[in-house]
Amino acid sequence: MLSLEEAVERSLATATFLGSETVSLGNATGRFTAATVNAKVSLPSFDNSAMDGYAVRICDLYGASPESPAELKCIGIIPAGNHPTQSIEAGTCIRLFTGSPIPTNADAVIMQEDCSNDPNDDRNIRFSKPIKPWKNIRFKGEDIRENDRVVTTGKRLTTGTIGLLAATGHGSIEVGIRPKVGLVATGSELVETTNELQAGEIYESNRSMLCSLVTKANGIPNAYPIVPDSLEATTAAMKKAFAENDVVLTSGGVSVGDHDHVKPAIGRLGGSLNFWKIAVKPGKPFVLGQVDGKSVFGLPGNPVSALVTYLLLVRPVLLKMQGASDLRLTKRIGRLEEKLVNRGDRRHFIRVTLDMDGIVKSAGGQRSHMLSSLAMANGLVDLPQNSSLAKGDLVEVLLVEC
Ligand code: AMP
Ligand code: MG
Repeated sequence: MLSLEEAVERSLATATFLGSETVSLGNATGRFTAATVNAKVSLPSFDNSAMDGYAVRICDLYGASPESPAELKCIGIIPAGNHPTQSIEAGTCIRLFTGSPIPTNADAVIMQEDCSNDPNDDRNIRFSKPIKPWKNIRFKGEDIRENDRVVTTGKRLTTGTIGLLAATGHGSIEVGIRPKVGLVATGSELVETTNELQAGEIYESNRSMLCSLVTKANGIPNAYPIVPDSLEATTAAMKKAFAENDVVLTSGGVSVGDHDHVKPAIGRLGGSLNFWKIAVKPGKPFVLGQVDGKSVFGLPGNPVSALVTYLLLVRPVLLKMQGASDLRLTKRIGRLEEKLVNRGDRRHFIRVTLDMDGIVKSAGGQRSHMLSSLAMANGLVDLPQNSSLAKGDLVEVLLVEC
């Protein structure tokens, strides 16, 4: 049995970058950057006002007080989006709004709330206190300068970065191509949810779960019809999936039962097995194979095993194919509300809930067919074989929803 680390390494070794494409910023959320991007302009791109108010020369306001306000003549208005044509001279000010360019000679902006008008001539503006130099002015380049780095290669695009890209003049961005992922569920007991269950049958659920997981990793999931347990049907379904996708995920049929056909099907397709069986729970039966240079991940049929092995072994591969620089699951630290025990001889990824206050609890039944605890869980705790954690211990939680 392979250690998880070795299995991850071997899985990643099969993943190659799929190349890049250009997408509009509106479609870029969550995608991975395929090039370094620099600012086309500085931010702000010109000195401008942070407030609605008046551009002044601070020397005109020295000694101003409520008893003896300074009075300046307003000689013009610069709405945001206009270019100033006037400059301020001694004893004058100019009306500005948030984002208006700063006129020549001005060295501060006074907030409108700190001024009043001469009741006899509203062009005369009264200021009842002095102001510090450069107050309420946003300077060219103080946020980011032209040609500064906006984002580096391999980064997942967040909302904030998308905003910065747009503000620095980019309408589109080069990102890694999304891998097409074929989903093949095997098992003669499986039926579509549109059918009525007959004795011994169960609803197929792994393809829906994997569609959700693959979508979250930016993959394009392609689900194929349920495959009964026969070598011919499994081979035919996998052949089609290989032809139409970059990666194939099967579920079920990877143990040592008489009805487990995924491994023989890889052989029939002229492919090779890289490994099968990994030392984790849930998820021991797990196959990595190659057919015509493409990878197939044979996930166990038990839904929890399928999800856990996907997160640990397949997700990083899909991210690497898109050029991601960080392939790890997000981790959070929490405090255990109860003891967790692993009496087994394989490391166990225990389904847990981590709440807003950092409290970690078991999400319920931990057997690999139990879906209700999977639905409750938002994280996994990696517990080594034959070990336990006590109530109050700090633990790392791998987030499932990432
Ligand atoms: P297998 O890995 O084929 O031996 O299946 C292990 C267990 O998972 C069995 O109880 C199967 O019925 C169940 N199972 C396999 N595939 C699926 C699936 N796609 N959806 C739900 N349960 C499944
Ligand atoms: Mg089966």
